[in-house]
Amino acid sequence: MLQHDVAIVGGWLAGCRAALEIKSLIPTVDVAVVAKTHPIQSHSVAAQGGIAASLKNVDPKDSWESHAFNTVKGSDYLADQDAVILLTKEAPDAIIDLEHLGVLFSRLKNGKIAQRAFGGHTHNRTCYVADKIGHAILHELVNNLHCNGVTIYDEWYIVQLIFEEGDAKGIIMYRIEDGKLEIV
Ligand SMILES: Cc1cc2nc3c(=O)[nH]c(=O)nc-3n(C[C@H](O)[C@H](O)[C@H](O)COP(=O)(O)OP(=O)(O)OC[C@H]3O[C@@H](n4cnc5c(N)ncnc54)[C@H](O)[C@@H]3O)c2cc1C
Repeated sequence: MLQHDVAIVGGWLAGCRAALEIKSLIPTVDVAVVAKTHPIQSHSVAAQGGIAASLKNVDPKDSWESHAFNTVKGSDYLADQDAVILLTKEAPDAIIDLEHLGVLFSRLKNGKIAQRAFGGHTHNRTCYVADKIGHAILHELVNNLHCNGVTIYDEWYIVQLIFEEGDAKGIIMYRIEDGKLEIV
């Protein structure tokens, strides 16, 4: 049986970022990330256009409220509005965190992160890395996982979660290459 303090199910942009956040809060925690794909085959690497945040580098009239309204409207009012408020309020800080992790955002002439128009947004607020935002972020997140000692199980397929008294305590997974089963 393999042992880790935390095993994150689903490895790429969301999972990697979660793993790094845990390591930054408690560096001694032993964190693993499990994904059925290799990073370059993930959904995350396909993202091209950019990532929205009301940094106001191009449009000083932008605001998190406007970003929130665009997001809720773009979801045909189906989005969880509490989650949208959190997302749009924290988005500028999340971009700066990514920059500090090493993501090479495209720049304005004054050196600030460039922002452009994007479908559904009423202000120029999309930060981008040419047309490779997903690839660029994933590249740095995976680098940072290696630097922080996070174990990566890529091309391992999770078949079941193990619950004890309602809490997820482990996973059953198999290696896609040869079908080897493991309990974490
Ligand atoms: C063509 C394209 C363009 C896009 N453009 C943009 C854009 O410009 N801007 C933007 O913000 N968003 C864009 N997106 C959306 C964005 O890429 C996704 O919302 C984001 O990547 C989701 O990240 P994630 O980490 O949640 O999911 P994923 O990257 O899909 O990661 C999910 C992980 O779960 C793992 N997994 C799932 N089931 C199992 C299992 N049973 N066992 C083991 N592992 C499992 C997968 O292997 C994977 O690692 C685009 C998406 C596509 C496809």
